[in-house]
This record gives sequence, structure tokens and C-alpha cells, in this order.
Amino acid sequence: MSAAWRVAPAINETVVPLLGDGVFPVRRIYCVGRNYLEHIREMKEADERDPPFFFQKPRDSIVQHDAVVPYPPLTSDFQFEGELVLAIGRPGRNIGLDTALDHVFGYAAGIDLTRRDRQRDARDMRLPWEIGKSFDASAPCGTITSVSDGGHRLRGNITLSVNGQERQRGDLEQMIWNVPEIVMQLSRQVNLATGDLIFTGTPAGVGAVVPGDDIKVAIDGLTPLRILIAPPEE
Ligand code: MN
Repeated sequence: MSAAWRVAPAINETVVPLLGDGVFPVRRIYCVGRNYLEHIREMKEADERDPPFFFQKPRDSIVQHDAVVPYPPLTSDFQFEGELVLAIGRPGRNIGLDTALDHVFGYAAGIDLTRRDRQRDARDMRLPWEIGKSFDASAPCGTITSVSDGGHRLRGNITLSVNGQERQRGDLEQMIWNVPEIVMQLSRQVNLATGDLIFTGTPAGVGAVVPGDDIKVAIDGLTPLRILIAPPEE
């Protein structure tokens, strides 16, 4: 008699709350690298005119508003990047600029949590970015405000504060590649589908956090996102 092996049970569905009522089931998480000039300059990246590039985080790296995020292993330079997040509500590929906004269901405040030391290593060694960007609890995402409730978020303040002190401030208008351009570009690389989230890049002012830090991202017209950094897991 052989042991009865079973296919592993499906992981719990990842969802993000919607303003008012209901949830947004998440399919994939994409992030835009280098999308604000001042951040490219503070990172001393090579060429400010490079086209945008995308990387992914695992779906289950989403954590929600008020989550406690353990300080991750393998880093001593754990950094925040406050970002606008788009939620895709209509599938598409090779989407044109003129119809790109029709595919955006809504917007949220997010944080692209980063092991900066491991990201720099990967960059220097020309290795993939996963170790720096794609790890447990690396994608905090706040409540989604639908376009029908709040309209599109193409300009407006984005700020991030740590323990009540402002560390990042920008305007969504400063994005090198704006929301329609991001949707258009990514849809040339992959099929976009309902449930995809896109983190749109961070303004200048990124920095490191330590256990006990309280991080808050506020974007005009959206619900603020807050997380707390906890000591490393045992
Ligand atoms: Mn980022």
C-alpha cells in the first residue's frame, strides 16, 4: 500500500480591502523600478533616461493596514519606499495610451519594502533583484479606493513618515512614467488581468527602519497605510 499523497491545499487567497465594503482578490504584484528623478539621483543609478523596468513580488507578500512586519533576515539595511499602487480591474494586452486608464479599477497607498544592501549586491553582481525586493511581508498595501468613488490619482501629495516624522514627500505628477504609460508598457510584456497590483515607484527620501518603527504612507484622496516594524522572527 502506498501512502496517500495529496496535492497541497491551495494557499489562502490574498485580498486587499476596498473602501466601503468588499475585498479585491490579488492576482499578481508588479513594481516599477526608478520612477522619480530625485530617487534615481539619491540611488546614484546610471542613466536617468532609462526606460522603466518591472519586477515582481510574491502574491502572499501583501500585508494590510495596521500589520506588524517582522524585521527580515539577511539584511542590516531594511528600507521603506512609499508608493502609489494601481489595482487593475480589466484584462488587457498591448493596451494603448488612450484606453489605459479604463483598465485601472482603483488606487491604494503601498510600501515597497526593500533589503537595500542585498539589492545593491544584486545590482553590482548583475544578479536578479529577488533577494532585495521579493520576500515575506515585503508588499504592504492599504485600502483600495475605486475610481468610481475617488477618480484617478494622477497628481497629489505622497508622503511617508516614520514615528510621526516626515521622511518622503513627492507629488504623483513627478513620476517619470505616469499611470497610463505604466499600464501601456507593462501590458506589452505580459497579459494584465483583473487582480493585478502595480506599485508605481517611490519619490526621494528612502531610508532604513528598525524594530519598533511606525511607518505611515499618505496619498491625497486615499486612505493612509500604516505598518509597525517588529523584531526579527525567532
Ligand atoms: Mn520601489
